[in-house]
Amino acid sequence: MNVEELSGLPPGALEHFREMGIESLYPPQAEAVEAGILEGESLVAAVPTASGKTMIAALAMLSAVERGATGSSGGKALYIVPLRALASEKRAEFDAYGEFGVTVGVATGNYESTSDWLATKDIIVATSEKVDSLVRNGAEWLTDLTCVVADEVHLIDDASRGPTLEVTLAKLRHLNPALQVVALSATVGNAGEIADWLDAALVHSTWRPIDLRTGVHYGNSLEFGDGTTREVPVEGAERQEAALVRDILAEGGSSLVFVNSRRNAEAAAARLSGVADRELVNVERTELAALADEIREVSDAETSDDLATCVESGAAFHHAGLAAEHRSLVEEAFRERLLKVICATPTLAAGVNTPARRVVVRDWRRFDPSAGGMAPLSVLEVHQMMGRAGRPGLDPYGEAVLLAKGHDEREELFERYVWAEPDPVRSKLAAEPALRTHVLATVASGFARTRQGLLEFLDETLYATQTTETGRLETVADGVIEYLVSNDFIEREREGADEDGDADGGDGAFTSAADLAARSSRTERLRATGLGHTVSRLYLDPMSAAEIVHGLEAAAERPTALGCYHLVSRTPDMYQLYLRSGEDETYGELYYERERELLGDAPSEFESARFEDWLAALKTGKLLADWASETDEDRLTERYGIGPGDLRGKVDTAEWLLGAAESLAAEIDSEWTVAVREARARVEHGVREDLLELVGVRGVGRKRARALAAVGIETPADLREADKGLVLGALRGEKTAETILENAGREDPSMEGVEARYPADDGEVVLETDREREASDGAERTDADPDESQSNLGDF
Ligand code: ADP
Repeated sequence: MNVEELSGLPPGALEHFREMGIESLYPPQAEAVEAGILEGESLVAAVPTASGKTMIAALAMLSAVERGATGSSGGKALYIVPLRALASEKRAEFDAYGEFGVTVGVATGNYESTSDWLATKDIIVATSEKVDSLVRNGAEWLTDLTCVVADEVHLIDDASRGPTLEVTLAKLRHLNPALQVVALSATVGNAGEIADWLDAALVHSTWRPIDLRTGVHYGNSLEFGDGTTREVPVEGAERQEAALVRDILAEGGSSLVFVNSRRNAEAAAARLSGVADRELVNVERTELAALADEIREVSDAETSDDLATCVESGAAFHHAGLAAEHRSLVEEAFRERLLKVICATPTLAAGVNTPARRVVVRDWRRFDPSAGGMAPLSVLEVHQMMGRAGRPGLDPYGEAVLLAKGHDEREELFERYVWAEPDPVRSKLAAEPALRTHVLATVASGFARTRQGLLEFLDETLYATQTTETGRLETVADGVIEYLVSNDFIEREREGADEDGDADGGDGAFTSAADLAARSSRTERLRATGLGHTVSRLYLDPMSAAEIVHGLEAAAERPTALGCYHLVSRTPDMYQLYLRSGEDETYGELYYERERELLGDAPSEFESARFEDWLAALKTGKLLADWASETDEDRLTERYGIGPGDLRGKVDTAEWLLGAAESLAAEIDSEWTVAVREARARVEHGVREDLLELVGVRGVGRKRARALAAVGIETPADLREADKGLVLGALRGEKTAETILENAGREDPSMEGVEARYPADDGEVVLETDREREASDGAERTDADPDESQSNLGDF
């Protein structure tokens, strides 16, 4: 089907597709059009990775917007992404629709807002968590939606995030029963079941734009599922993956190597950089060196440096511990074929468009805490990684390879992955943490006002269509209602129960206690309390909120920053750091030292699992406290064995949880609101109390603030009046100093002709030239506490 044959799209859209190199539709796209996506029909598209699912979504969204523009009702589309990182990628892609007047917005930011400005946008991109929070906060524009796309809908199977996606889709359909739902999925075993649930047509296809050959490497040979083989000899002590990368590089192809942990990704990249390096030509070396410099500038942590070192040799690692800028630099250089090999954890397989001629799935098992050991990856995960093989138009075909060490393993890998049918998607909604959150939200936002109404709403979920166990959802839901009532998040109102009882009594019929209970629970009204509403709007797991509320109520004196950080770190909403071996002792000692600061009752040492959790929270809390005491980033990543991206993640989560804690404190009239607010501000900026005012000036981060404070400039008012030479000496860079003075509201921020000055030990101010002489005499300052000195060393 040619794009010219498509009707109902905004004028200019076809032009845009042609410019993108899309002349005719891929077969699954044509099937989707035949199924009616241009006319508002719902659809589940279960299609392999990289087979043009985004185009299916685009056709549905654009025709919905166009129908709205020409009709009376107004058209508006929502694109739900599984990861925040993908939101900006999709926005960048859809932004081009601006050429023909279709506007795009990304719903990000905190979970409390309704983002009303989005009401004017035609297409909105958001994560399922964000959409869920918009529903909870009653964003009115949600009822205007005419089309919703759920990307990677198979993630409904994911225990931690799947239930939110599932409930969100159910709620959006509940709000607007005529809504067009387009669910994009990898090939899964039960796409038909998902289509039934969504009342949607189904396009189920195994078609790919480029041939994919999947197989297993064992010994010196690579054998494919279609029976063909290719010799890939392993030389001497060489590893299999190195032989495979070298082999494909010799014919100009790049590789993606998937491993099971961040550490393994880094180690493998370091080793494979030797292989890549041999094939580089001089211009590539120059470009790679420039890329390495850019990478080093992103952050001062060791990971940044390690990555840059690999990149100089044409290799890279990629995992969720990297900063977002690192990831996008690496992805782009790989797409431009400058980088020859990336060693990645499976995050890269999830939706990032980085195809390679050869994909090597080196590890097919990974550590699974719930199994207490190594567990095999799911078929879906391995197929997603394999699907990254082959760049349409660039490679003749794609190859995806698993590695076997022995004959039996080779057989097993063929059975388990190469010939395997894809797994089915199973709802995880009945898990308690998921229901806890969603039951409260459903009651608080008025989707259900009675127990019966709640059960009816839950009946609209995929879980309900899949479960064969009668009464299971009801039992779990009752347990959750009980928990929410006992923590004062919802209350029951037994309206009308009495009259029923009287009526029965009048009949003189015998009514058993069980009958009575059943009837009164049917008519039982459920209502969120003020606290419950707050918790739901804040997007907290009710269990996190309960922990925070109890902690604040238990505090007899003003909580310290560490106390606050520990409190939020022990909630289920914070992904805690693990205790490494021997650390239970280290943190056990810290616990006895700082016990008084921790809020609430500690578990007894004899409850070993709970006590260990408590200490793991202490480790996480200490990381946050160190960050808020201005410890350098690279020191923290080293001390806690984490990547710079992890540090960012913890800081962001803590900021959000402490913001929520502040609202909860206000809700329960706690006297510690200010203490919590201050702890939040400190973690947000990574500074001690004395710098909180200075970091409020745009452009002043933790290091610049400390450098300014060191020369006696402690407030924005000081910045407006201080000696400009001193400001320049502290901030270096004239442009920086000027901008900051301007942001602080200084009347004349110009640095023209100003010479940097530094206070000498006796308090006198010295000029740049004098200081250089001192430094060359060896009179550099030394600091007793290295943690304190970073403010003078840091990059700006
Ligand atoms: P998926 O979402 O299925 O993983 P994408 O939608 O990202 O895959 O598509 C992969 C690539 O194929 C993109 O670069 C896209 O521009 C391109 N593409 C999609 N449809 C067509 C088409 N009909 N003709 C040519 N290229 C296409």
